[in-house]
Amino acid sequence: MQKIGIMGGTFDPIHYGHLVAAEEARWQFGLEKVIFIPAGHPPHKVSRKISEARHRLAMTRLAIESNPFFAASAIEIERPGLSYTINTVRDMRNTYPLTDIYFITGADAVLEILSWKHIDELLDQCCFIAAKRPGYRLGRLKTKLPGLRKEQLKRITVIEVPALAISSTDIRQRVQTGRPIKYLLPEAVEKYIREQGLYREN
Ligand code: NAP
Repeated sequence: MQKIGIMGGTFDPIHYGHLVAAEEARWQFGLEKVIFIPAGHPPHKVSRKISEARHRLAMTRLAIESNPFFAASAIEIERPGLSYTINTVRDMRNTYPLTDIYFITGADAVLEILSWKHIDELLDQCCFIAAKRPGYRLGRLKTKLPGLRKEQLKRITVIEVPALAISSTDIRQRVQTGRPIKYLLPEAVEKYIREQGLYREN
């Protein structure tokens, strides 16, 4: 059966941690490709200001340019209303029937999935790959996600990604305070941030 990865995140901005996590997941799980899907209107971030979707999509496209196994999709950005992962997975299921779908995202986000919309259907339709930074003590998934059944927990795999020591929050703060961001993200993304004047204000 064909396997594809969906890389879900806000990507504000995308950085090497995300790229390494996606490549590691592709290799470990034998994924044919990984489709990066920047969140359009994240339901849990209605109070925090995030950069315009067009900027986050443009940076994502620039970042993945050199990897033939990576692609980007604007489906969440183009879909009106809040971005629920279940809608994205349903869309992907229609586009790629008879395919195993792996939803890759940060471990912190995965620990919140009990609050996500239609979680039973979601865990039925895709497996989760939760990327964590080294030293991050996740604890046992069984304890962290008590509402899930044993067979549902088996559909979540945690991978450790050293490059996830890099974080979007830190990059935004660095830009704001004039500290360097070189080597934390692809040069083309760094240039885009500079040219568009992103993250200069809080
Ligand atoms: P977040 O809460 O901003 O991020 C949580 C942590 O995970 C941060 O440390 C973040 O680091 C990291 N992270 C985020 N995406 C990652 C990725 N693809 N690979 C590795 N690390 C990642 O999470 P978010 O970006 O808003 O949401 C993550 C995904 O979950 C999105 O696709 C979102 O749509 C989905 N989601 C769905 C629902 C729902 O359906 N109800 C609710 C919440 C989230 P950085 O800040 O450095 O990225």
